[in-house]
Amino acid sequence: MSTIQDFTGYAPTWCPGCGNWAIGISIKTALSQLGYSPSDVMIAFDIGCSGNMNDFVNAYATHGLHGRSLPVAIGAKLANHKMPVLAVGGDGGLYGEGGNHFLHACRGNHDITMIVHDNSVYGLTTGQVAPTAQKGYKSKSTPTGALEVAVNPLTLALTQGATFIGQSFAGDITHLIDILKKAIQHKGFSLVNILQPCVTFNKVYTYQYYLKRSYKLPETYDKGNLQEAFATCEELNHEKFALGVLYEIERPSFHEQLSQLSATPLIDRSPYKGVSEILQQFI
Ligand code: SF4
Repeated sequence: MSTIQDFTGYAPTWCPGCGNWAIGISIKTALSQLGYSPSDVMIAFDIGCSGNMNDFVNAYATHGLHGRSLPVAIGAKLANHKMPVLAVGGDGGLYGEGGNHFLHACRGNHDITMIVHDNSVYGLTTGQVAPTAQKGYKSKSTPTGALEVAVNPLTLALTQGATFIGQSFAGDITHLIDILKKAIQHKGFSLVNILQPCVTFNKVYTYQYYLKRSYKLPETYDKGNLQEAFATCEELNHEKFALGVLYEIERPSFHEQLSQLSATPLIDRSPYKGVSEILQQFI
């Protein structure tokens, strides 16, 4: 049985009070409570403050460019579909530059967990506007207010075929651990959008801002009801944030539909066997 210490890497360099601290602790705790050890898990990190977690968490990991953590995670899953695979990044990378990968990960129902630090700014580059900021949001790069409407990742995931959509808040670690565990256990593509205050460069979307506008879904909520889920996900457009599992259904994941992978993961096959047989013909 692993402990949270087994997953602990270098001391984080995040700003004091940043929501990333809670997310880092929650990912390590969720993996540990699910019984995984660092050698069981692969995490593909995006670039940015969130991606710096690559140094702060022990696991098999990659640290790539904006949005590209998703294809890396999908490739790793196809190579070893017995292994839990996470893709971790910010809203800039995963809903901006990586937006196309996001859509295709949803529709393919690739069995990975996409964990998004949603803070509406590019924190590592000191606070430019990012895709989930509302129209009119003022930042270093939009001094008179953002001209575009915000990306709604929840409705986007829902309409593109995601089979698990969760949302949590970096100010509530207990809730966040619970949602992460459910997402990692889900068979198929899972999105966890985490409301993560960037205390240094976002003075609008603060802990108080999210506390005032978020609520936990009641037990009576039907997470398998598409219409109800759409109405709940759409609330994001009006700065109202439902916390919990907003949508979950069963659908065969991408790798489950590949007969070539039904016997054994690719990684367990000898890469040289076929080559040797071919060479024998010429010896
Ligand atoms: Fe967190 Fe923002 Fe500091 Fe980055 S810049 S570590 S997102 S508070």
